[in-house]
Amino acid sequence: MSSSPTYEGRVLRSTGSWYEVQVDPVDDPDMPRVVDSRIRGKFRLDETDVTNPVAVGDRVTIRYNEDDETGMIIDIHERQNRLSRRAAGRRVNQEHIIVSNIDRAWAVQAVQQPPLNPAFVDRFLVMAGVHDIPAGLVINKMDLMDDEQQAEVADVVARYEALDYPVYCTSATAQAGISDWHAALRDQVNVVTGPSGAGKSSLINAIAPDLDIETKSISEQTQKGRHTTTFAALHPLPDGGHIVDTPGVREFGIVEMHPADLCHFFVEFVPYLDACKFDDCTHDHEPGCAVKNAVDEGAIHPARYESYLSILYSLQDGMEGTGR
Ligand code: GDP
Ligand code: ZN
Repeated sequence: MSSSPTYEGRVLRSTGSWYEVQVDPVDDPDMPRVVDSRIRGKFRLDETDVTNPVAVGDRVTIRYNEDDETGMIIDIHERQNRLSRRAAGRRVNQEHIIVSNIDRAWAVQAVQQPPLNPAFVDRFLVMAGVHDIPAGLVINKMDLMDDEQQAEVADVVARYEALDYPVYCTSATAQAGISDWHAALRDQVNVVTGPSGAGKSSLINAIAPDLDIETKSISEQTQKGRHTTTFAALHPLPDGGHIVDTPGVREFGIVEMHPADLCHFFVEFVPYLDACKFDDCTHDHEPGCAVKNAVDEGAIHPARYESYLSILYSLQDGMEGTGR
């Protein structure tokens, strides 16, 4: 048994005890590409602080069982990053990994309907930074842009491109900018998030018509009840890469950290942090604040600074609430 060959792959989906593993392309044409696999018993005991020892997105090594159809997961590779939530119920200190090894998380915004919301984008970027997930921005519904909005949209594009985040302007209905964005998804594991109505499912349908993600997940929820909704799934894209279908991406909107840590996740603040007069500067009201000076000099966008303050105040309020 130990001499049978092993294969590397990625977990697409989990039903609790079975895992769908997509085996990396190999030369054998008879090889099933997606293998229903189970974990070898001893993994179950290893990581006690995690409720799911194998997560969607995990890179794994499998070996075929004697039936030559099902597999056994014999190794889980180190995770680059993870999106998780605290496990529900009594296991309060445990985490539930929603998806791992994300190459890019995309915030989708509409030009209007719903209105463009850079403050949401800034919260999202903080959370992407916290989770060590590279982030990007899609501005959809470009066909609805009127003359008044042109300057605002151009400002938003320039603001995030200057911070080295990839930005794509699209129209799902007019099929504009779609192929450029599609090219950016290729061979990557992508998470797509953003407010309801911004056009996430329309965009995904435009690049992968067969997936019909949102529709499917909603019908699964109503048909099978709550259990299916707690599991994310990776959907293979037609030209390579994956897109994550998960209700868990709402975690991106919730910033939870010590207020003093926040400034480190505004990437353009970082070069100034050591130059503030006070070591414990919150970059709010303090004199001699190098961050505020950079805002005044135009080196930091004022809207980014406003977002920083808004999140800072909500974190400070939260700490009062917990009595810390
Ligand atoms: P989601 O909630 O983010 O998944 O948004 P949907 O994809 O369901 O889209 C919400 C609504 O916006 C639908 O009526 C879509 O037809 C429409 N929509 C999506 N993309 C565009 C676009 O690029 N331009 C315009 N004008 N409407 C769009
Ligand atoms: Zn400061």
